Amino acid sequence: MTHSSGAAPGEARVRAAREQRLADRLAAALARPTAQQPEWPDPARARTVVARLRASPPIVTESETAQLSERLSAVARGEAFLLQSGDCAETFSEATEPHLRANLGLLKRMALLLAHAAGLPVVPLARMAGQYAKPRSRPVDADGLPVYRGDMVNSAVRTLAARSPDPERMLRAHGHAARVMALARTVYAQELADPCTGILSYLQGVPGGDRFARTAERIGPDPSPRSEQIYVGHEMLLLDYECAPLHTAGFTTGPEPLLASPLAHFLWIGERTRGLGDAHLAVAELLANPVGVKIGPSTTPEQAVEYVRRLDPHGTPGRLTLISRMGHALVREVLPPIVEKVTATGHQVVWQCDPMHGNSRTTADGRKTRHFDDIVAEISGFFEVHRTLGTHPGGLHLEATGEDVTECLGGARGLREDDLSARYRTACDPRLNAEQSMELAFTVAELLTA
Ligand code: PEP
Ligand code: MN
Repeated sequence: MTHSSGAAPGEARVRAAREQRLADRLAAALARPTAQQPEWPDPARARTVVARLRASPPIVTESETAQLSERLSAVARGEAFLLQSGDCAETFSEATEPHLRANLGLLKRMALLLAHAAGLPVVPLARMAGQYAKPRSRPVDADGLPVYRGDMVNSAVRTLAARSPDPERMLRAHGHAARVMALARTVYAQELADPCTGILSYLQGVPGGDRFARTAERIGPDPSPRSEQIYVGHEMLLLDYECAPLHTAGFTTGPEPLLASPLAHFLWIGERTRGLGDAHLAVAELLANPVGVKIGPSTTPEQAVEYVRRLDPHGTPGRLTLISRMGHALVREVLPPIVEKVTATGHQVVWQCDPMHGNSRTTADGRKTRHFDDIVAEISGFFEVHRTLGTHPGGLHLEATGEDVTECLGGARGLREDDLSARYRTACDPRLNAEQSMELAFTVAELLTA
């Protein structure tokens, strides 16, 4: 009676073969060209760190990730709205409870407002618990120093030593991400016990804030599910960090087994690393997690279709989010042929608007900023394109903080270039502050109900 004990080694063999195949595919993906990776000064040290990351505890659970996949499929079908928001770059020093509370409270307020306005459940996705690596346009900064690439790679301090890439930072990033995620779970559930008061009081004292009073009065029950689950995502940039802890997923979106990332529920590929022949895309193809690709104004409809074929081979609604960041002047021109061509394939993607990254500008004194009106203009264009084509404007992707920073121009207080130095605190790109974000959410609520 060796039947069952005979089956077990067979199963183990099948599993081992499956894992080997996935490991081979991952190795082949990583052998492709990679952009935006640091050169570790001590590669042996980096390998030791990667081995430790491989054995690190998960930051998110697979069941939460599978649940987000379900919720994104509802977004792709037009039955929900995705709201993503957070810092451009998280820092180790700001992994504090007050900062997380500010950003998550803001995300929850905006989500509530939009849920009411759209009459749709809103899926809250924080740019958090892993947004520690940044792609940069130039390898050196204005002082001629190696550029700051995020706390996961080097330090923002302006010395040559501080800017040297340090692989130990990947371990620190992982530790911070784990603690941030643990705190985010409780903080998100606690925020906004009395949502109506919260939203109204947010605009008290803001010049012109009463113009939204009617919208605020209509805030009723939130159609979102009772669950207070917060999802997190970050840019899948630094491949040493991202690939080390990948393991065979317990869930899949097609006939083949895939790899699960325990680092975040959602991962996206940035505008600078979306090359069709490059490693980032080949890695994303192997993931069971829902993924996104940023698409800037140089994206062709043919490229967009290629992203869809590669990243959603089995036609799973919401498996892929296309995050358009065209800039307010180009969105009406560049986005429609992309949406048309993708829609014609029959794949159901999430169309998300990032109104931040196509609208950056530099002030006379060299600060990176964005104007509130340009951000609103890109969102309006995005909604208009989807309304015209009969597709669902599925979501927003914002760089915003609940803190009272002065990084973006305009808004009800009319922030000007001279005002920015007062509280310009971002480690990378300029964020909307709490008031500007709520003003934006009210403006979007009006677009959704128009
Ligand atoms: C970002 O999201 O911070 C970013 C760098 O965006 P993009 O890849 O669209 O430029
Ligand atoms: Mn950014």
